[in-house]
Amino acid sequence: MAYEKERSEMVEYQLRDRGIKDERVLAAMESVPRHLFVDEYLQSKAYDDGALPIGEGQTISQPYMVAVMTELLELKGDEKILEVGTGSGYQAAVLSMLAAEVFTIERIQPLSLRARGVLKQLNYTNVHVIVSDGTVGLPEHSPYDGIIVTAAAPHIPQQYIEQLKVNGRLVIPVGSRYSQTLYKIKKTATGISSLISTPCVFVPLIGKDGWDEKEV
Ligand code: SAM
Repeated sequence: MAYEKERSEMVEYQLRDRGIKDERVLAAMESVPRHLFVDEYLQSKAYDDGALPIGEGQTISQPYMVAVMTELLELKGDEKILEVGTGSGYQAAVLSMLAAEVFTIERIQPLSLRARGVLKQLNYTNVHVIVSDGTVGLPEHSPYDGIIVTAAAPHIPQQYIEQLKVNGRLVIPVGSRYSQTLYKIKKTATGISSLISTPCVFVPLIGKDGWDEKEV
């Protein structure tokens, strides 16, 4: 398969060497053909250590950030996961290899349609791609074992906590428009516990319970 060597080096030097330990996450990222989730002219850069443009002013996240966020979800294989921010569909493909069922929401229809096409073509059949405002979650398929938000939120929407199972995990970048902190929130029987992970920079989560489109 194309770019096998680049993918393998990405896993070794960008992920394993920087502390990603979950072997299932490393294997999934060794398997998903990231170059097929970007435009042809960017394919040779798909395994570089950074984010890339995917059109509509949006990005496919840096491989390391995808790995960190996925590892924080602590997936074993039988989970139902909600992703907010489908973008290219790459993160959803990685999740589809690690969980039983993935719902992914995107607010920009052309991105969603393209991601759906790639995911279908590559046979990631346990991913459901939906166009809507993900700031309100996706109550009709809740509760989830994990929710991963791949855009920057100004605060943690309460409905994400409500849509998690007890012991479910929420991974979300929260902060200002240009710099955020990655949070892992665990829903417990009595409330939540939270863990602060790494500083990060994401495009904004825009919607009813996110940033106002006019502000960004
Ligand atoms: N996970 C993506 C991937 O693997 O390519 C990268 C996501 S990109 C950094 C963030 C995405 O979140 C953008 O495509 C953006 O349009 C989307 N987004 C922003 N606000 C949203 C909302 N309220 N609901 C759904 N998607 C949203």
